Amino acid sequence: MTHFDCLSRVCSTCSDCAGGRKVYLTFDDGPNPLCTPEILDVLKQHRVPATFFVIGAYAAEQPDLIRRMIAEGHEVANHTMTHPDLSRCEPSDVRHEILEANRIISMACPEASVRHVRAPFGIWSEEVLTTSAVAGLAPLHWSVDPRDWSRPGVDAIVDAVLASVQPGAIVLLHDGCPPDEVRPGTKDSLRDQTVVALTRLIPALHERGFAISSLPQHP
Ligand SMILES: [Zn+2]
Repeated sequence: MTHFDCLSRVCSTCSDCAGGRKVYLTFDDGPNPLCTPEILDVLKQHRVPATFFVIGAYAAEQPDLIRRMIAEGHEVANHTMTHPDLSRCEPSDVRHEILEANRIISMACPEASVRHVRAPFGIWSEEVLTTSAVAGLAPLHWSVDPRDWSRPGVDAIVDAVLASVQPGAIVLLHDGCPPDEVRPGTKDSLRDQTVVALTRLIPALHERGFAISSLPQHP
């Protein structure tokens, strides 16, 4: 079973049976003490919900941010404990990465119901799908990736999203940086462009008739 076979079994869009123009914002790799509060402020100002795929190790350090996400109507989802390439992990490590992140989120905020998981780097494997199913987590990919983590400039992030967004789109953005990609003293791990892009993206999506929504409940 290749990664691509597995990816074909993971949702990359959410179709809306009612035929609406819903789109879904997702943020990976936080919570980050600098960037996540800024993202939350922008979402609050525009009254827009999002889903945060958090790294368990960061959630353990920033439980207040997990509680703030839930209190402000966002969904907190599972992005593993330490953000490894799960296709290179032993099955027992895959289970630990996913189940432990769930436990950390629940400890930070018992009201959080964790419904979704996203594999680091979007690399899905049979083991990840099996473990997710056992844990009651729906695997979720994305359909719009402006590569904001590469800091291509605010215009590039906004333009990339608007060029490919369609009803049901799941937009991938980042409010943090994985542990092994943090380089102190460089700007690589900063998400300031994402924050500014978001202040422009939300009104632009609304102008185009899109409703930024919470992910639907899955059976
Ligand atoms: Zn990630």
